[in-house]
Amino acid sequence: MFKGIAVSKGIAIARAYILDRSKLCILKQKLNPDDIEDEVHRFRQAINKTKIQMQETKKRASKVAEKYSIILDTYTLLLEDDILVTDTIDRIRKERMNAEWAITETLDKFTRLFNNINDEYLKGKKDDLELVVHGVIKNLFGHNQDSLSEIQEPVVLITHTLSPSDTLSIPRNFVLGLATEVGGKTSHVGIFASALGIPGVVGIKDLAAEINTGDPIIVDGIDGYVIPNPSETILEHYKIKQANYKKYEEKLLENIDQPAITLDKSRVRLMANIETTDEIKGLKKFGAEGVGLFRTEFLYLNAHTLPTEKDLYENFKRVAQELAPLPVVIRTLDIGMDKQLHFYGHNDEDNPALGLRGIRMSLAKPEQFIIQFRAILKASLYGEVKILYPMISDADEIVQANSILEGIKEEFRAEQIPFNEDIEIGAMIETPSSAICAELILKEVDFISIGTNDLIQYLLAVDRINEQVAHLYQPYNPSILKTLKHVFDAAATAGKRVSICGELGGDPMITLFLLGLGHLSDLSMDPHSIPKIKKIICQSSLKDAEEFSKHVLSLGSTNEINTFLNEEMKKRYPSDFAQDSKYEVKEIS
Ligand code: PEP
Ligand code: MG
Repeated sequence: MFKGIAVSKGIAIARAYILDRSKLCILKQKLNPDDIEDEVHRFRQAINKTKIQMQETKKRASKVAEKYSIILDTYTLLLEDDILVTDTIDRIRKERMNAEWAITETLDKFTRLFNNINDEYLKGKKDDLELVVHGVIKNLFGHNQDSLSEIQEPVVLITHTLSPSDTLSIPRNFVLGLATEVGGKTSHVGIFASALGIPGVVGIKDLAAEINTGDPIIVDGIDGYVIPNPSETILEHYKIKQANYKKYEEKLLENIDQPAITLDKSRVRLMANIETTDEIKGLKKFGAEGVGLFRTEFLYLNAHTLPTEKDLYENFKRVAQELAPLPVVIRTLDIGMDKQLHFYGHNDEDNPALGLRGIRMSLAKPEQFIIQFRAILKASLYGEVKILYPMISDADEIVQANSILEGIKEEFRAEQIPFNEDIEIGAMIETPSSAICAELILKEVDFISIGTNDLIQYLLAVDRINEQVAHLYQPYNPSILKTLKHVFDAAATAGKRVSICGELGGDPMITLFLLGLGHLSDLSMDPHSIPKIKKIICQSSLKDAEEFSKHVLSLGSTNEINTFLNEEMKKRYPSDFAQDSKYEVKEIS
């Protein structure tokens, strides 16, 4: 039994199919001086061919999973990267070596560099570079990459990694599960597997060497296990777990049209976080009651140039129109930190998490802010559109932003451009200062939305994207929960709506606690999480939740809280939490 990272929920039971992507044997050849330019030409052709393949893959990808097609843009950018191409051509010319060998040397050089860089985000890019270079080498070899089409019966696919085109060539009817040796929670394989609903586990080192094609195998995408050659008992166990999970998922979707109301009639609105306009198509299926967070950065990250006011307006209008009368909260640009744009405001800050991001960037360089405001105001006619400011750390930032917005409203009035005069404004509470002074922030806005992803990072001083300190990123740390309580109390006193749009909002383990804070009006989350959160709310009473939260807030350490939540939630909602434990298989009622 191997333990990895669960990236896509569900259980797959089938025969293994090993996709060997490691057989590229590269030989070093010394070139004749006369052949050098031909070799450079051959290399350029392979680069161009790979670019075209990536673009074709992207076209197919955008039909399947929008987020996945964004990743492919990153790969194309790597192929346009001067360093990769120029460095290899220099080697071919100076060292008179064949292109396959030269690009492998370039890759080695960058791999060494990446390994020495103390930046986890860039280290993650190493895998992307490796995939791109392998694509180029295959084209230099003239290999046909499509051995996946040989799969004609149900299998569990086991491989070192999958290139983007591999992933898209997967015969979806036959690949029941997926396990890879590399990758993390947010790797493209993981995103793709979950978009297609294929149970998946990644990050099991040397897995392929331990398994043979044809071996019976189980992939447990719930708990992150891969089990080759299971015994009869284990197989039976997993068949039940598989059936139970399927039944559980189906059951969750049964009451999707019902609102989330507690047993004592308290209502919570459950909304979706989206990054792209296309995602709205799938929201109804999960029962989303609107969009609580539209991260507009992805409209920029997905493009090669800055989107125009018209581009933004069309995106916002479509979302507003299709969801009307449900609310759509559009967050203004939060560029900076992990979401840098090379064509906008990029700067080499030593500490970008504490730098010019979110509202700070918008106030310092207001051109895009103004364009966003104009597009949002125009779209506000088509639905219940609201504006949300990110990274607020002082109420004065809201005053400044509102004054820019007011200026645009004045212009619109003068030019008789219609918009919703009552458009609501909200602030994200995601910095310690905004949380501590929530009552001051609340004076300037109509609602607040707590961004727990950043709030946790800043309260605990733990970088949210650094694997080395990932174990310290503890959402149930007492300081986080006490801060939430403080913010909820401030919102209750101000009589304004409070929502959670960070990951904690979609974490079923903490739902009862949040409910018990007493003034929970909205939760916004990955739409897949909505059915389970709804089920928990519908099975709970507010009164009981308040006692529960009081008790959690009295506990003395993160450990105590973790243990309490784990035990209590299993006890109170056995059919919802037993699913997540390794060997516990209970009949779903
Ligand atoms: C957050 O910080 O919790 C949040 C929702 O914003 P983002 O994850 O985009 O920073
Ligand atoms: Mg944030």
